[in-house]
Amino acid sequence: MKRIVLLGATGSIGKSTFELVRKNPDKFQIVGASAHSHFSELKQLAGSFGIKNLLNTRNNGDFIEFLKKCEPDIVLNGVTGFAGLKFSIETLKQKVPLALANKESLVTGGKILMSLSHAMKTPIIPVDSEHAAIFECLIENNDSCEEEERGRGGSVGDLRYKPFHKILLTCSGGPFLGKTRKALENVTLAEALKHPNWEMGAGITIDSATLANKCLEFFEAMHLFKATKDQIEIVIHRESIVHSMVEFEDSSILAQLAPPNMELPIGMALNYPDKTDYKLPRQRFKNLNLSFAEPDRKVFKTLQILDVCADNMENFPIVFNAAKEVLVGSFLKELIRFVDIFDVLEQVIEETRLESVDSVGKILEIDARARDRARLKIEKIIR
Ligand code: NDP
Ligand code: MG
Repeated sequence: MKRIVLLGATGSIGKSTFELVRKNPDKFQIVGASAHSHFSELKQLAGSFGIKNLLNTRNNGDFIEFLKKCEPDIVLNGVTGFAGLKFSIETLKQKVPLALANKESLVTGGKILMSLSHAMKTPIIPVDSEHAAIFECLIENNDSCEEEERGRGGSVGDLRYKPFHKILLTCSGGPFLGKTRKALENVTLAEALKHPNWEMGAGITIDSATLANKCLEFFEAMHLFKATKDQIEIVIHRESIVHSMVEFEDSSILAQLAPPNMELPIGMALNYPDKTDYKLPRQRFKNLNLSFAEPDRKVFKTLQILDVCADNMENFPIVFNAAKEVLVGSFLKELIRFVDIFDVLEQVIEETRLESVDSVGKILEIDARARDRARLKIEKIIR
């Protein structure tokens, strides 16, 4: 029985986790959970799942005290956005294994988190479906080891990965795959919120429509698997069945295939290293057609912006994420157009200069400055 602390219990990752726990009551127990603006909803859920410890993050509840009381085997961070970083840091500092859905933690604090994971000999196990797939293709065993080599296996945090040639990061293309820039100028919020394959929170759904989500995942993979920019290729795979692939030096490729359902990567992370039957739908191969293509980098300018950021990994991903979060917030309120997300993000990144990031304080400072810059540009558009 795994004792789980679930952060962001009222969100989409939270919902999938409750569903998984409901189906597998002999494997998982939620011993603590957090909510932000829907705390009363969480209280109701806590009743039916027998969760004793609740954390209201909007009231600045003491996370470390909460964690100590829960005595978890693992923390699942399903908080959305930059707000998730502090929970990831504190979890590792307390030497509790981290099942990480909150990709923004690695995008903004990757350097600090990976060295914390290593220093505390405490693993970060990815929940993001692509990274869970890559993890499964690369993981060697659970032994700690000292050596750490870029893209050549060795240990990362407390985990040991196989050496690899390339990560093939799959991408559904979102609701606007195949559209021209002109067509994107008129898309509505409702259209952008309709993901073809996944049901997720609003923020990540918009990020999937702009492909900013794939950019975040690119940074996430660079940190998690110590991959260089040239070791990751984004591949459009419309069906979201192949969750990602890894190519090895001998030219062979491993992939993980499954129907699109977050309960699988959540279960794999919570249960790692054991594999079990989570009572999920199984892939049927009759009539299955899988397609792969190159992304359109002209229409989805986020991928060009990604190129610049991946060459400047210190502060650029923090700026990218901060500006993107502000822009998506404004788009969700229907204050700006969909294409403004591309254009303002591009402008903010063009104005960014390389800075080194060596502390959490510096991350907060860079994030705040980038948000201010994005807000100023949005104000000009609205006026
Ligand atoms: P949702 O928007 O559905 O849920 C977000 C959760 O975070 C809610 O429980 C919310 O609480 C909580 N929250 C919001 N703001 C704060 C804050 N400032 N401090 C603490 N908690 C906060 O998001 P998703 O579940 O879709 O996504 C969560 C994370 O997982 C994101 O980083 C996303 O990129 C990642 N992810 C999600 C996938 C998915 O299938 N949904 C797939 C892969 C990754 P409340 O509702 O009470 O305000
Ligand atoms: Mg993903």
